[in-house]
Amino acid sequence: MTAQATYEFKAEIKQLLDILVHSLYTEREIFLRELVSNASDALDKLRIVTASQGGEGAESDDEAPLEIRIEADKDKKLLTISDNGIGMTEAELVENIGTIAHSGSSSFLKALKESGGPNGQNADGIIGRFGVGFYSVYMVAQSVKITTRSYRPDAMPVEWISDGQGSYTIRELTPGNGADESAAIPRGTRIEISLKDEFVAEFTELDDLRMVIRKHSNFIGFPILVSGERANTVPALWREPKFQITKEQYKEFYSFLTYDHEEPMDTLHLSVDAPVQFNALCFIPKKTKDFMGFDREDWGLDLYVRRVLIQRQNKDLIPQHLMFVRGVVDTEDLPLNISRETLQDNLLIRKINTTLAKQVLSHLEKMAEDKDKYAEFWREHSRVFKAGYMDFANREAFAGLLRFNSSSCETADELVSFDEYISRAKLDQKKIYFAFGPSREALKLNPHLEIFRKKGVEVLYLFEPIDEFVMDALRKHKDFDLTPAELAKPEDLASLPDVDADSTDTETQAAPEKPALDALFERFKAILGDGVTEVRASARLTGSPCCLVNPDGHTTSSMDKIMRHMSHDTSVPKKVMELNPKHELIRNLASLNQADPADPFVEQAAKQLFESALLLEGYLTDPHALVGRVQDLLAKSSGWYTKAK
Ligand code: ADP
Repeated sequence: MTAQATYEFKAEIKQLLDILVHSLYTEREIFLRELVSNASDALDKLRIVTASQGGEGAESDDEAPLEIRIEADKDKKLLTISDNGIGMTEAELVENIGTIAHSGSSSFLKALKESGGPNGQNADGIIGRFGVGFYSVYMVAQSVKITTRSYRPDAMPVEWISDGQGSYTIRELTPGNGADESAAIPRGTRIEISLKDEFVAEFTELDDLRMVIRKHSNFIGFPILVSGERANTVPALWREPKFQITKEQYKEFYSFLTYDHEEPMDTLHLSVDAPVQFNALCFIPKKTKDFMGFDREDWGLDLYVRRVLIQRQNKDLIPQHLMFVRGVVDTEDLPLNISRETLQDNLLIRKINTTLAKQVLSHLEKMAEDKDKYAEFWREHSRVFKAGYMDFANREAFAGLLRFNSSSCETADELVSFDEYISRAKLDQKKIYFAFGPSREALKLNPHLEIFRKKGVEVLYLFEPIDEFVMDALRKHKDFDLTPAELAKPEDLASLPDVDADSTDTETQAAPEKPALDALFERFKAILGDGVTEVRASARLTGSPCCLVNPDGHTTSSMDKIMRHMSHDTSVPKKVMELNPKHELIRNLASLNQADPADPFVEQAAKQLFESALLLEGYLTDPHALVGRVQDLLAKSSGWYTKAK
């Protein structure tokens, strides 16, 4: 066909155009995003065909750089977008622009129908949610002229014109039908928009145009030149092959993304094909943001669809306990014009989330091979990371990445993994022991840990309340039960040989006779009343006279405190008091009590020991009585001491 022909738009498109033209939709600038994306797709397609055909069959002006050009002419009220991409033949033009082939427009119409038609109350909202491809240009255009020439060597240029009112004309620019025109028309597509008067000012200012481009299309992989000046500044690094990217480029992109001028701690560049296709470029920053503080909402990954930004900081793309990861995800599997509502409960996004979570974890596993580097990560990000104890799907990997300080560490900075712990475990030890405390120093003095020191059994130290939840949720690692040291059964440890010949060890001392001991326990119980549930001999103490033990045998005192704190319960829980019969003080008290069952010193000592134990456990709210007693004892002992000197 050489002559000019006029076609009617398909009914659906007429309807769509009518709505676009008459809608009051405010974000009209998105038409630029749609046209630029089309141009970018056309350039991509050209790159693919020329690569697959080894350049053969394509027009031979390969020298010209692939780019998108935007020109504006205020006086002529013209805005032009051109690309030197794949172009269209006449048949393709009729096929592509004139029938609804793409997902955006048809889902748009469907949504519109469901909302009660174009005059329905929600029409504007619906237009806002959907991009509608090429046709969105009619929100601002009086008329549009497309001039296009396919990459095929024998293709003739074609011209398409429409005012969007219901029909379009099309003609081939063949010799004899404008020969000189045809010779001058290069490969690619040029879209000339005659702007409606009211939009001339808005869409012919070059700086404004550049801003719109940067806002929606900054990462388009080809240069977008607005009147010759490049508007998109940062390349979509995530879509580039890894080996081509320098460290500098990564860093530059990272600072663009995060405004962090330091280098990232680590970079993850992924290209995934199954179960979903996506590219991701993610970073772990060197410094954490204080997520427990103010900036709880400041996280998420930027979602792109084919280099076009769809949503910043999407929080469905990555689990919350990996919120320290910053970056972008780009998928081809979503339509460009997907609405935010649709994103929220999107299966594809969920699949990206699970895939990314696994990838980040295995990346951290690799990072952990370098102990120092992982320690740096742990210091900054562990607080956030630990919340992953709820991620049951990745439990193993999560547990493998946990680190603790422990009784085997020389310093507070040293870190131990479960696996290291297991590698050092004693023969037949089937438990990983842990204890919660405010500091290493406090834990070193914790009476519950005495037997562990004596038997050389390592205890992991927990310093943050969340650690308790982690242990509680995991319960096991490999074959090892995670067991709080204070709830350990002394008989589990008794058979192990001693390693620590501590000078304070009371083991070599003889315990008092049973009747004397039982009498002392009874006396203690009588003195302490309801404060304790039971007083009994301890098998776990080797240096201290006493400790308190939870009667239920499965709640640690620290967890108990957290629960009480949460329920605003300020009462003091009732505990079992365990006494060390071989300790000098207990032996002396037993004989004093035997000699005089009403000896006031035994009473003072019982109260003092109990309150000191409460103090250690963090339950003593009123220290007055304790302090008074200590001062009284000191006064008396200073008297004896002075005499003895
Ligand atoms: P979508 O891009 O969602 O498919 P559009 O209405 O924007 O829908 O475009 C319809 C089709 O027209 C595209 O799929 C493409 O085949 C073709 N097309 C649009 N713009 C160009 C262009 N600049 N160069 C080549 N083909 C294009």
